[in-house]
Amino acid sequence: MEILKMPVAPIGANCYIVSEANVAFIIDPGGDAGKIIRAAKNFDVCYILLTHAHFDHIGGLNDVKEAFPEAKTAVHKLEKEWLYSAELNLSENFGFDSVYEQNVDIELEDGMTLDFAGTKIKVLHTPGHTPGSTCFYIENSGKPVLFSGDTLFQSSIGRTDFPGGSGRKIVESIKNKLLPLPDETVVYPGHDENTSIALEKKLNPFLNRS
Ligand SMILES: [Zn+2]
Ligand SMILES: [Zn+2]
Repeated sequence: MEILKMPVAPIGANCYIVSEANVAFIIDPGGDAGKIIRAAKNFDVCYILLTHAHFDHIGGLNDVKEAFPEAKTAVHKLEKEWLYSAELNLSENFGFDSVYEQNVDIELEDGMTLDFAGTKIKVLHTPGHTPGSTCFYIENSGKPVLFSGDTLFQSSIGRTDFPGGSGRKIVESIKNKLLPLPDETVVYPGHDENTSIALEKKLNPFLNRS
């Protein structure tokens, strides 16, 4: 499995293209759609997965979906309507007007799995940064990987001061759903650098408050 990480406009959220042989899925096409489309053009793209519906993770969604019409768009059911509201997805606050022009194909729920290239993408609902924040876990034949969106960052956690955020819930989500994953799991967050479950267990100051 190959993972291509691309920080994209407007504020450098991480978009990922995960591929195996000729198939791929895209996580969080936040902007720079042309760059994402070029990088994914040789693959059969089967999904566009959203970790949540904030503007910095969905800004390229319309163009990417248009380029890969077979790809199924997936977002947690609690944030489906956010895709269609510039107020809810916060794009309005930042002077864009980002609304999705197509249908959501898959409404994600905790515990679902999505088939991908002979393996399974496990859907973990991790509310806190937003009510529908979702992480994607793949056991993978090599090291397991987790795409953590804006829930878990290297030595940090997501903001909880936006509408629908909860500081109590984000810590509960991380402790109950993410920290039990294998220590060697590589964490690919929605912003900034990668980390691992082992490192965050040891070093994350937000999780080590008693
Ligand atoms: Zn966010
Ligand atoms: Zn973000």
